[in-house]
Amino acid sequence: MCKIYSTVVLAICTVITVSLAAYLFWEGKEAPVKRNGEPGKGDTHLSVRNAGELGEVVDSDQTVQKEDGSVDDLAAPPDGVPDLPKTKKSDGLPEGSLSDWNLILLGPHEENKIDEELDLELTQFDTQRVDSRAADAYATMRDAAAAEGITLYLRSGYRSMETQRQNYNGSVQRYLDAGKSREEALRLTNEYYTVPGHSEHHTGLAFDIITPEYHNQIYSLDDRFADTDAYTWLRENCARYGFILRYPKEKEEETQINFEPWHYRYVGKEHAQYIMEHGLCLEEYIALLKEAGR
Ligand SMILES: [Zn+2]
Repeated sequence: MCKIYSTVVLAICTVITVSLAAYLFWEGKEAPVKRNGEPGKGDTHLSVRNAGELGEVVDSDQTVQKEDGSVDDLAAPPDGVPDLPKTKKSDGLPEGSLSDWNLILLGPHEENKIDEELDLELTQFDTQRVDSRAADAYATMRDAAAAEGITLYLRSGYRSMETQRQNYNGSVQRYLDAGKSREEALRLTNEYYTVPGHSEHHTGLAFDIITPEYHNQIYSLDDRFADTDAYTWLRENCARYGFILRYPKEKEEETQINFEPWHYRYVGKEHAQYIMEHGLCLEEYIALLKEAGR
């Protein structure tokens, strides 16, 4: 009985020993184990290290910058590994470069000016002319507004530097004639006129838009236009046709120009939609493009 018992115990011990040896041997060959088809933890580091070995610099935001300055995303992280943010500063910005004709930036800031007249082909609307490249967009917007009972009237479009100079100097002269000092005359004129070379109307892409009723009854371009249905319609719909409200009330500091509910600027649909959706002014948008190296 005792002999049989010892034999059974010996057999059990042998089986356990052999199983343990086989298990340890197997583990030693296969580590690390990949389960459910998922790569082991080391794989992400491996791809980063390989990227470095290929002469690339790894950025902290999980993009790889090659020696020629171009940037590639790393391969997608394996399933189950959190996807780290890979946002580039240019993400979401429409295509376009600062040198594009529809992104020209003029304004009160010292650098935002032209020194010579632009060579433009112009198209006539109402009594005004605008850059022909924006004419179809304006006609389409005007027709869309008309279909909803809003009649748009182009009060002011292209203005040459020469015309602006005459208007500007005429205003200064009127204040001088009224007995103001030269300094005072300039200060008062600058409240209503942009210095020649800095006016967006030189581009043919600025559209002062009101309605015939407003033109006949109120005439003066001021905040009252913001109370009209036409303004509400324009603000809500202009981007669809490639236009932006150029001088919003909340951006006076950036634009250095008071709120102008009548002044719209053609920049093209994609830029316009980005600008209006993100509540930007053109100065801020141009700064974003610069930041993105456009
Ligand atoms: Zn204007």
